[in-house]
Amino acid sequence: MHENRVVLKFGGTSVGSSENMGKAIDKVLKAREHYDEVAVVLSAISGVTNLLLYAGRSALYKRPKDTLLQIKEKHYEACDIIPDTKLKMQTIIEIDERLAELEKILTGVFYVGEVTPRSLDYIVSFGERLSTLIVTRALKARGYKAEQIDAAEIVVTDSHFMNATVDFEATEKRAEEKIVPLLGQGVIPIITGFIGASKNGQRTTLGRGGSDYSAAIFGDVLDANEVWIMTDVDGVMSVDPNIVPEAYLIPELTYMEAMELAYFGAKVIHPKTIEAAMRKNIPILIKNTFSTSAGTRVTLKREEDEFCVKSISILKDASIVEIRGYGIGMSARVLKEIFQNMEEGQINVMMVTQGSSQANVSFVVPTDDVKNVKRILLREYYERFNIIDNIAVVSIVGEGMSRKAGMAARFFNAIADKHINNDMISQGSSEVSINVAIREADMKVAVQAIHDEFLSVKACQ
Ligand code: ADP
Ligand code: ASP
Ligand code: MG
Repeated sequence: MHENRVVLKFGGTSVGSSENMGKAIDKVLKAREHYDEVAVVLSAISGVTNLLLYAGRSALYKRPKDTLLQIKEKHYEACDIIPDTKLKMQTIIEIDERLAELEKILTGVFYVGEVTPRSLDYIVSFGERLSTLIVTRALKARGYKAEQIDAAEIVVTDSHFMNATVDFEATEKRAEEKIVPLLGQGVIPIITGFIGASKNGQRTTLGRGGSDYSAAIFGDVLDANEVWIMTDVDGVMSVDPNIVPEAYLIPELTYMEAMELAYFGAKVIHPKTIEAAMRKNIPILIKNTFSTSAGTRVTLKREEDEFCVKSISILKDASIVEIRGYGIGMSARVLKEIFQNMEEGQINVMMVTQGSSQANVSFVVPTDDVKNVKRILLREYYERFNIIDNIAVVSIVGEGMSRKAGMAARFFNAIADKHINNDMISQGSSEVSINVAIREADMKVAVQAIHDEFLSVKACQ
């Protein structure tokens, strides 16, 4: 492990305007006071990835002129962070050139009448390529050595477009060739998050919110001694502060806890981030770009005497798939077939339960996958199924929690006391979380009740 190297990742809001970019740059310079080598990973300006996806999809039937204009305006405004007029003008010209290229691609989509995941990955990559261009120029204009790095030249992935998986060995080789020498010369590499390329050079992306994953990948391949995820909240909170205003900062989490929270919907960190950090045991710090809060430190370590709930996660836009049939839950073969089909259809199955009568099996999937689930079930002759939409999964997370008696009972009572019905329950096999699926309309009341029950007094602190 390199003793004095850190990777800082800034999310969409942190680079969302010239003002915010200025704050992000201040944090980079501050980190340089403590670390010899700082590598930076950036997201696209907030909202831009959505606009690009919209542009790509709507290009099938129209020229998305207005969308392109919105994208252009966001980047022009961000350029105000470049203090040198000449460098600023040059950057604006380059933005125009890139966007002209994008427009050509969108025209291509219109004429071909098809937009594939592969072309969408190419289209969304413009977001990170533009944000990194602006921040690199802003640092250069202030007299720092900085270089924009397109992660497509470094991060090697499979060809699973829009949700690619990384080949760490191949990526490490490239990072050693292209990034390590820059760090040694005191250059700040400004790297595009979210992006990679397949072995044959086609651009891929790592899934929505994937810049966090990029940061952990670079932490791993650069042997950094810490990875900082800089975002718009103070760190991982006891629950999403947008839902429960009394939410407070959790100073420490284990990898398992953070992974469970991320997997069950805490958007503050992308689920694959932790997996990558665990390869070399690199601590992840989640911190606020806009405050001096110490943030949340995520490591392997766990206090042995902790038996508590640390945080609540909420996963929205989910659906329950219920398959009925006599003895279905007893037949390992049928269950295997069902889940094999789901895997082949790339369905993200998040929670599974089996009815006590053995006559049904239920699982939770993202609502976005429901169309494909129906297609698979009809194709495979599982006709007796039922789909419940508008589901939210609420989870309590804490390593060691499962060894304290009565936690599950308190969790379900807190919900039942509010007369909220639960549609499915499960305890994560890792025993780090207990999960309940409820109607999305009940989510706010349920989450507040669970927070009152377990987290009104700061647990584990
Ligand atoms: P970024 O653009 O920096 O990647 P995200 O929007 O992806 O930021 O993630 C930060 C957001 O995650 C917060 O603004 C907050 O609304 C949401 N969030 C959900 N659960 C939590 C939680 N437990 N703690 C903190 N933030 C959370
Ligand atoms: N820009 C990408 C997204 O919006 C990646 C990220 O922000 O992490 O999903
Ligand atoms: Mg994010």
